[in-house]
Amino acid sequence: MPDFIDLRSDTVTKPSPAMRSAMAAAEVGDDVFGDDPTVIALQERAAELTGKPAALYVASGTMGNLVSHMSHVPRGGEIIADAGAHLVQLEAGGYAVITGATLRPIAAGADGTWDFETLRAAFRPDDDHQPPTALVTIENTHSPTMGRPLTADYTSQVATIAHEQAVPLHVDGARLFNSVVAQDTTAAALLADADSATFCLSKGLGCPVGSLVIGSPEFIDRARRARKLVGGAMRQAGIIAAAGLVALGPGPNGMIERLADDHTNATALAEGLAAMDGIVGLDPAAITTNYIVFGLRPRPGQDLLDAREAFMAETGSRGLAYTQYPSGRVRALTHYGIERTDIERALEITRHALAAVGLSAATV
Ligand SMILES: *Cc1c(COP(=O)(O)O)cnc(C)c1O
Repeated sequence: MPDFIDLRSDTVTKPSPAMRSAMAAAEVGDDVFGDDPTVIALQERAAELTGKPAALYVASGTMGNLVSHMSHVPRGGEIIADAGAHLVQLEAGGYAVITGATLRPIAAGADGTWDFETLRAAFRPDDDHQPPTALVTIENTHSPTMGRPLTADYTSQVATIAHEQAVPLHVDGARLFNSVVAQDTTAAALLADADSATFCLSKGLGCPVGSLVIGSPEFIDRARRARKLVGGAMRQAGIIAAAGLVALGPGPNGMIERLADDHTNATALAEGLAAMDGIVGLDPAAITTNYIVFGLRPRPGQDLLDAREAFMAETGSRGLAYTQYPSGRVRALTHYGIERTDIERALEITRHALAAVGLSAATV
């Protein structure tokens, strides 16, 4: 559909022209034999950017987290994770089904961080009755708080607490480079004390497929075996890895620095939305990366979910897509392919939709 403004997720991005040509020209081999030069180059670039010795290309962020858990956690081990984390909510229970782990969820505060006393208390004592704590994992950026970037200092403090208990720290950095750009820092600084991490190429970095797992060579060896076990070892994967090499730059076609535009666009969108009659629960100052969640105020006596349904149908028919949460809240993510003019139009469409479904007092 021409000019459809798709804010459902930053996963809807299409590969850039530079990615298309790199993919067409990619040198390939059989990566299961370890001889696809493009995959090797991508893994080396990922390791270099994150300051870790080794990396592994995997099909998705979910697979990256899964093989990382499998590599750190013995069957029956326990993972300490954020209660709202992707692994808890959106990975089909793979930590239990495949890794065989139990879960110790802790809720983060409004800034996306844990209270350290609560974290310390979540580690299990050495006791035959209890599952042994085997991994701590955090998300950076932190999705449940609209993609807040966690600092290098916070990550190091969490790592120190974990390491005191001889437990490793894994960082789910699906949007790690949003965090890097938002804080004007480096991936290596954010991961300095983490034992392993994953990041997605297929979100704001614009690639069609893929994520990277990074860590020590021993950890990556275990992760490669786990990747094989879950059916994720791919053959001429250089075709898709080539897009990742473009995204990770350096050079004019790199996709990391342009994430700053997504953040500026998200703030502009949030400021426009927050000012609208009918929209509630959105503080534009809380937008720090590319992630916005807002509420709708139903008319007196109107059911919130009915109002939301009508709003979504109305924006959709006008060429704008948001996603909805079961809570009734609505989500928008900015990304590659969304320009400032699209933000202006999205605001215009939203204003009309709110009026058309009677959520605002304005006239259509
Ligand atoms: C998107 C996401 C993932 C998983 O990535 P997929 O490639 O969709 O499997 C993992 N963790 C977080 C925080 C994410 O946002």
